[in-house]
Amino acid sequence: MTRQELYDIARQIEQQYGSLYEEVCQTVFDFAEVGMQEFKSSAYLCEQLAKIGFRVTRPVAGVETAFMAEYGEGHPKVCFLSEYDALPGYGPNQDQNGHACGHNWIAANTFGAAHVLKEMYDRGLFKGTIVYAGSPAEETVGGKINMVDAGCYDDCDLAMQIHIGGGTETRLGSQYLAMDSLRFTFHGVSSHAAGAPERGVNALDAAYLMFNGVNALRQHITPDARIHGIISNGGLAPNVVPALSESLWYVRAAQRSYVDELVQKVINCAKGACLMTGCTMDYQFVENSYDNLKINPFLIDEMAACMTEAGIGEVDTTIEPPSGSSDVGNVSWVCPTLGANMGIGNTDGCRCHEEAFLPNCTGPVGFAGLHKAVLAQTFLALNAYTDEALQKKLYERKTQLQSERTGESRVKVK
Ligand SMILES: [Zn+2]
Ligand SMILES: [Zn+2]
Repeated sequence: MTRQELYDIARQIEQQYGSLYEEVCQTVFDFAEVGMQEFKSSAYLCEQLAKIGFRVTRPVAGVETAFMAEYGEGHPKVCFLSEYDALPGYGPNQDQNGHACGHNWIAANTFGAAHVLKEMYDRGLFKGTIVYAGSPAEETVGGKINMVDAGCYDDCDLAMQIHIGGGTETRLGSQYLAMDSLRFTFHGVSSHAAGAPERGVNALDAAYLMFNGVNALRQHITPDARIHGIISNGGLAPNVVPALSESLWYVRAAQRSYVDELVQKVINCAKGACLMTGCTMDYQFVENSYDNLKINPFLIDEMAACMTEAGIGEVDTTIEPPSGSSDVGNVSWVCPTLGANMGIGNTDGCRCHEEAFLPNCTGPVGFAGLHKAVLAQTFLALNAYTDEALQKKLYERKTQLQSERTGESRVKVK
């Protein structure tokens, strides 16, 4: 059977079950649960996957809303990276959760791809293992990092995800910055700010002296790095010298090793602030450590061809400098991983995380893109089974990634 004949059968299956994928997309959209609270979403997805014959393991990695679902056996083992956490702060009073990053759409396109591939498997047209990896809290702690640590992706030959994006352009060469997030707490001594300031030790002073230290550091870091923070607690009343202050920081760079280095320098800025003020300080990592994405040019080219086949226009394969961070990066250190950002086709200029983007994550625009994303991923998975040259590249890349692994845990939040 030719590649085109296989694709045509996949198209027929996708068309036959397309309304089910739309239903999954809408249902998870309506649940709109934020990270680590995706109880209904994960239970619903597990139920749908069990219904189509997948073996479901829940929970995994010690995270209640994380799960793995598998169908078939052997290799290639192809993993679809699902997400289903929403964001807070939408609606007229900014008090509602919403899927403004379209993770419901990711949950559905991975479900669709897993299902079409399963139907191909049942017809003897695909051999291998189909994996639906249910990973929570992409927007907060990074659930995939817990799952990487637990070995969930160790046996996979290929992992992929198509994220929703605004506009019409689809980007395959987006990279992610490695990132650490920290909370610094300074402890001082309260006193009357006017009556007896000499008795006080000012924890707010320590926080902004730390900011000044980091501002000076910024001149001497490489241009890819980003260090940004907020003061989340700067005291309670102006007439009381603050005995406690707290700041939250993100430290990012193109390479994990450089983030590790910068984090130590930021900690030194906090230590310096202690010396200057007489405060004491402690710090914690508040999210898991995100790794940079290890990009795979051969997969970008493969996926570009699959996307064109699936009717996705304007596919840009340029490898761009990294900007944001994603826990998909951590998966890319374990097995060959492809992360794509697909323009949903809206032309009103709105983008992910914006209130106006919400309607694009379901409905006619979202669903039209959903079906194409299902097909593109299915085609790439089929190629991983039928194309020996691609299999060889995947094998070599995986071997290389394994040889580079340090085994160091990136899990900071249990
Ligand atoms: Zn997001
Ligand atoms: Zn997202």
